[in-house]
Amino acid sequence: MNFISMKCPNCGGALEITAEMERFHCGYCGQEQMVERRGGTVLLKLVDGLAKVQRGTDKTAAELALVRLKQELDTTKQEWEKVDQNLKLRRKSADNVGAVIALLLLIGGMIFSVFVCYILIPTLPSYSIAVCLFISMAFAIAILIYYSIVTSRKQNELRTQAWRPFGEKIKDLEGQIEINKRICES
Ligand SMILES: [Zn+2]
Repeated sequence: MNFISMKCPNCGGALEITAEMERFHCGYCGQEQMVERRGGTVLLKLVDGLAKVQRGTDKTAAELALVRLKQELDTTKQEWEKVDQNLKLRRKSADNVGAVIALLLLIGGMIFSVFVCYILIPTLPSYSIAVCLFISMAFAIAILIYYSIVTSRKQNELRTQAWRPFGEKIKDLEGQIEINKRICES
């Protein structure tokens, strides 16, 4: 029979807790108790509401819990990878939109420069086409930089928000894994 040895939280008497025990009366003092299990951690609590608790450990349960927790941790990390990949793709397409806008501005600026310098005001000095082209290029580059700064800030915010629940879950699982590892090694 597989059991773990614990002490009665009420009288300190030696108890043998088997896997199927949920509620029982202490054989020494008669106190009714509840068994709570979380992974390899076993708690004995008095049923009448007194705050006396006895902690114990169950290696077999801890080993089982470790396998399950590690799987859950892997799954959670994989889920985050997927979310992160999606965010990266979205960021790429946002950057592409910025690049297209900048390119259109550049082409538009060039056409406008040629139109102004050669057709609208042909009396302008010869270097003015170069000035106009330079201005439209600078404008396009400024738009490109602005767009990339704004989208990257927005994407970072989105990523931080998306990470929060995953981070909390991963931290909780890692904590539980640590506890159960210690139980297995004890
Ligand atoms: Zn007892």
